Amino acid sequence: MYQKCLVCGQGFRPNEALEHLDRGRRVAYDPARGRLWQICRSCSRWSLVPIESRWEALEELEKLVTDRGRLLSSTDNVALLRAGPLEIVRVGRAELVEEAWWRYGRELRARRERYRKLSTAGTLGAAAAIAGSWATGGMSFLAAWLIWDNAPGVVTGGARWLRFGNVAWRGAGQCRRCGRTIRSFRYRDRGGLIITPGEEAQGVVLSCSRCTDRSDETGVELRGQEANRTLRKVLAYHHFAGASEQRVRGAARLIEVAGGPQALSGRIIRPGRTLGQVGKLGRVALEIAVHEEHERRLLSMRLAELEAHWRREEELAEIMDGSLTPAPLVDSLRRRIAGPR
Ligand SMILES: [Zn+2]
Ligand SMILES: [Zn+2]
Repeated sequence: MYQKCLVCGQGFRPNEALEHLDRGRRVAYDPARGRLWQICRSCSRWSLVPIESRWEALEELEKLVTDRGRLLSSTDNVALLRAGPLEIVRVGRAELVEEAWWRYGRELRARRERYRKLSTAGTLGAAAAIAGSWATGGMSFLAAWLIWDNAPGVVTGGARWLRFGNVAWRGAGQCRRCGRTIRSFRYRDRGGLIITPGEEAQGVVLSCSRCTDRSDETGVELRGQEANRTLRKVLAYHHFAGASEQRVRGAARLIEVAGGPQALSGRIIRPGRTLGQVGKLGRVALEIAVHEEHERRLLSMRLAELEAHWRREEELAEIMDGSLTPAPLVDSLRRRIAGPR
């Protein structure tokens, strides 16, 4: 095990998850070939852990992955996992089931917790304000009542505005029916947003304020990443207060029954339906699914990069572990990569 990256010298941060590899938050290993690397967060290069200090750590790592690892994404050659504070690249085919949408469920539950704290803060703030002015005789009963009743809403509403603003989308589009120029879409009109199922990902139709018959023949249609981004923003805005454990579970089941996040919109949203017409559970499932789509795209890019890294590092590891090259050469190679010590 190394304290520092062999290539750039950046120190590896300590981790408490592994006893036999207590440095580095990113590691890669290949259980079949018995390789173990610490990955540098600064230069992204992999440092091959010397053979003699590898075996216990490998065993420990495989156990951690089996017991607590959550698969984020995988290709035929590498899998990216998370276990506690560690990000783990496992070489070889992953047997674990992807459970990516549970990750986002956690986000929704955390949001709910934050929202609760905000509302409580609002209520406490109002109580303090009322008590203060009451004592000095500066407030009527009606004013006190108004503040008391609206305080949590004002605080949470303000927090939501700070986080999102008013506008979910800006651009230049034309209504497909009346030709009116549409430059923005506001969150408050979200109920009229139409979701159009697609092969790969869903599109969205932003309504036109002139054409009152909301259908997928009017308004501006967004597709691809722009649609995904807009839908993610609108749904996050809508679910600012998060979702309960029970609803997240229900939503995850809905996604499973539909056959995965990609299939969800085609299964639960009938063509031409507005967001306002989708049920509560469906909307939570939709937020999880659109986020998952986005995440999947990012992960597949990262994974392609990791796979390229692995090919290069494995080539070096094969040489360094001495399966191809006599020992003196290994040393000179190590020096060439790491620089003189
Ligand atoms: Zn480095
Ligand atoms: Zn129009």
